Amino acid sequence: MAIGVLALQGSFNEHIAVLRRLGVKGVEIRKPDQLQSVTSLIIPGGESTTMAKLAEYHNLFPALREFVKMGKPVWGTCAGLIFLADKAIGQKTGGQELIGGLDCVVHRNFFGGQIQSFETELPVPQIAAKEGGPPTFRGVFIRAPGILEVGPDVEVLADIPVPYNNNIDPNPSLGNQEESTAPGERVIVAVKQGNLLGTAFHPELTADTRWHSYFLKMVDEIGGATSSSICAVGEELSSQPKIDLPIFQY
Ligand code: GLN
Repeated sequence: MAIGVLALQGSFNEHIAVLRRLGVKGVEIRKPDQLQSVTSLIIPGGESTTMAKLAEYHNLFPALREFVKMGKPVWGTCAGLIFLADKAIGQKTGGQELIGGLDCVVHRNFFGGQIQSFETELPVPQIAAKEGGPPTFRGVFIRAPGILEVGPDVEVLADIPVPYNNNIDPNPSLGNQEESTAPGERVIVAVKQGNLLGTAFHPELTADTRWHSYFLKMVDEIGGATSSSICAVGEELSSQPKIDLPIFQY
């Protein structure tokens, strides 16, 4: 069993490294025919406009849309979440192509630019219930999107209060709708809809592997057979020193 990782741009190596720690092989996907060798896919964070241009160049969009439509498990992190959304606002002039399938509206740079990137302890009740561990997860938000609206089939897995430095610019010249989210309100940052998982933050940049094992369980439930390998390396993982970034909080 191998998990495909879209490897056009962004943090695909980091996802592959986490999968390796869980005893699962990550396969780099760059071309449409390579998608046929895998039954699930992770779309990493990075820069969604650049990623869209590269996907267009490699003629990947039709194959990616087909992959999603066939009900295969796909997890988009950050730029990958934007890619999976049915609608994105705050895009560059001319917009960008999306895969779609996830019934939600995302704001591309909801939390602001690079300088507004932040880390926070995110309450993750469903993840903790399924994967164990602490009730919160350390969310690394890098020029992160926010999920402004979700459809009726979308399950919200995490949301956070809108930070007080949030400065949404819906860029009306692009026809984006005015958004009413204000500081103090909550914004959705993780969702699941059937075979699709979306997180606005970067679980591949932390030592906590629960989002990855949650996705592997989705793969298992939908038709794969990865659970035995996940359990097999659990002990090995806990005996390794954790190399991790420091956490900052506002
Ligand atoms: N907001 C970025 C974009 O539009 C995504 C940032 C990320 O993936 N870290 O591509």
